[in-house]
Amino acid sequence: MIVREIASATPYNLERMAGALKTLEALNARIVDCDLCPRLRSHCTEVARVRRRAYMDWEYWGRPVPSFGDPEARVLALGLAPGAHGSNRTGRPFTGDGSGDFLYPVLHDAGFASQPKASSRQDGMKLHGLWITSVGRCAPPGNKPTPEELRNCASWLDQEMALLGNLRVVVCLGRIAFDGLLAHEHRAGPRIVRSSFPFGHGNEFTLPSGLRAITSYHPSLQNTNTGKLTKVMFLKIFMRARELAGLE
Ligand code: SF4
Repeated sequence: MIVREIASATPYNLERMAGALKTLEALNARIVDCDLCPRLRSHCTEVARVRRRAYMDWEYWGRPVPSFGDPEARVLALGLAPGAHGSNRTGRPFTGDGSGDFLYPVLHDAGFASQPKASSRQDGMKLHGLWITSVGRCAPPGNKPTPEELRNCASWLDQEMALLGNLRVVVCLGRIAFDGLLAHEHRAGPRIVRSSFPFGHGNEFTLPSGLRAITSYHPSLQNTNTGKLTKVMFLKIFMRARELAGLE
């Protein structure tokens, strides 16, 4: 949490924290204006126009969803893409849908989130030591971005990870997020042998860049309603991320 850390920061640290925030904010501002994927942009706009009956009093965000969190984060949570009536409505990752209702209480229990409930960009939520982003920034029809759309969005992830100077651990929420992280590593460094990185809940890897990766089932309703992913399982993932990141 920036405010909490400012209390004990040296002038140098204050300057660095402010710089990181400004730069990540600048990147977020560019992401919000991105229109590289016509299919996704038109889908998000249409969903925002029609809306769901339960959210008729909302003005949907309807644009690419910017990332969110602590610019000094050591841990990155990497998701798939915004939900049509969740992040595409509220404008913040995992905010306003079933996945977020499962994720944020766990982040709160693990010490990463200031509160368990995420409802809107104005709900007061702060993240400590964690940054949340996704491999796709626009809500895709059927929750399925095409390979081309994911490739379009990859440069945002590359730029973002370059700006997260304290990053040590990436928690990949689902197989597609993990594939996106491996593709990022591949672009940034030596060739990766994909079969050396099998996806599974709770798997851990040291990547060529030195980053640690933990893979988790995605907190989608499909997984959480069926018990494939429980809160205990999910909390273990984030507590392990804390440990690997050297966070108390
Ligand atoms: S998915 Fe990514 S690359 Fe495509 S329009 Fe949205 S922000 Fe841009």
